[in-house]
Amino acid sequence: MTDLVQIRARRPNAAGAAPAATAAQAAETAETAATADGPRVYLETLGCQMNEADSALIAGQLAARGYVRVSDPALADVVLINTCAVREKAEERVYGRTSQLLRHRRENPDLVFGITGCMAEHLRDKVAERAPHISLVVGPDAYRGIADLVDRAREGASVLDVKLDKDEVYEGLDGVPDDDGVSGQVVIQRGCDKFCTFCVVPFTRGRERGVPPREVLRGARRLAEQGYREVVLLGQTVNSYRWEDVTFAELLRAVAAIDGIERIRFTSPYPVDFTDALIEVMASEPKICPQVHLPFQSGSDRMLTAMRRGYTRAEYLDLVRRLRAAIPDLALSTDVMVGFCGETEEDHAETLSLMREVRFDTAFMFAYSDRGITYASKRLDDDVPAEVKGRRLREVIELQEEHTRAAFAARIGRREEVLVGITARRGDHVIGRTPRFQNVLIPLGRAQPGELVTVTIAASTGHSLIAE
Ligand code: SF4
Repeated sequence: MTDLVQIRARRPNAAGAAPAATAAQAAETAETAATADGPRVYLETLGCQMNEADSALIAGQLAARGYVRVSDPALADVVLINTCAVREKAEERVYGRTSQLLRHRRENPDLVFGITGCMAEHLRDKVAERAPHISLVVGPDAYRGIADLVDRAREGASVLDVKLDKDEVYEGLDGVPDDDGVSGQVVIQRGCDKFCTFCVVPFTRGRERGVPPREVLRGARRLAEQGYREVVLLGQTVNSYRWEDVTFAELLRAVAAIDGIERIRFTSPYPVDFTDALIEVMASEPKICPQVHLPFQSGSDRMLTAMRRGYTRAEYLDLVRRLRAAIPDLALSTDVMVGFCGETEEDHAETLSLMREVRFDTAFMFAYSDRGITYASKRLDDDVPAEVKGRRLREVIELQEEHTRAAFAARIGRREEVLVGITARRGDHVIGRTPRFQNVLIPLGRAQPGELVTVTIAASTGHSLIAE
């Protein structure tokens, strides 16, 4: 008896035809076309899922102008790095990466380098001093005109457009994503109004604004028509979404009503705005995956106040309790920051104790770094020595590793529904995801890309599950 039960093959698209070309197929086609057609652009994305969605938007705008996306920078006329400024290391990576790519100027002296995204906004004209080979610097609110800006840079101009626009939500523009072909993203909110004291996002992405529900639904329906089966709603504080009198909970219900979309996720919610109505929608709407990424940052009330997160440790834990009571088998992930200004050993111990109490499935863990333009940078003392930050980060990572390994091991022997990616492969396995957002490796030939299958979990690598 096979342990692999196919539930449904990948749906045909709305026209009843075979599924639309996947991003990888499109890229392959583009690569082939690159020998014949328009100027070639290499686009690399760093940072968060919002940046991935923005890269899709940029790729869409450039494709409409006749640019052909290539996956090899050696073939490119334009190299764009869509950057992140959230952590210091991310900036260093960008400078390092563009210097590395500079060697392609030997084959193509006209090669244009540009950066887009949060670092472009954050560092603006400083980029020209630090990396003079970068002639195009474009912030996150200027992508509507990106094709014109790239054209100008190719004509030899030095281009800087980092204006923030409090109304821009890119309504009506379609992206060309580079994804796994089954899980697509829809941006429902841009910017952030929370102003956590350590964070550059409100400065680099501007004030919070919701995308009109009609546009969100258009994006989700478009994904369904293209054969995507999962939609991920994106926003910096996604559950703070509001458009006129429409709440995030109501928007989720509307997306869930779209035929063809079988799974819905959202990221990242902000703990303070997690309403009872939202918990109720998650608990009652089967398409919404039982998975929440809920950043807590610190387990110490003193640090939470210094960070201006707007909640206490007890309130965060109460939210976790309410979520787990309402949504059985909920997967929880989080963001943790160590070494914030003034953090003592006692504060750090509270972070570790919160992690032990919640036992997150996974976590993104960072040491605080001064970002120059934030409240913390201007008003607080970055007084935790680097080696102490490093040791605290190691302790947090070690503890989380233990919890993650246990969370994966707990799935062995269970039946899991897996959505198999169109393009995702590792060796002789295809890769899919469970509703709880755990990767599952399935031997090639046992599941087709794009299928929703049910498998029995035989083993865990500690970070992935392996189907029997
Ligand atoms: S909620 Fe805080 S950490 Fe998140 S993007 Fe907004 S300011 Fe940054």
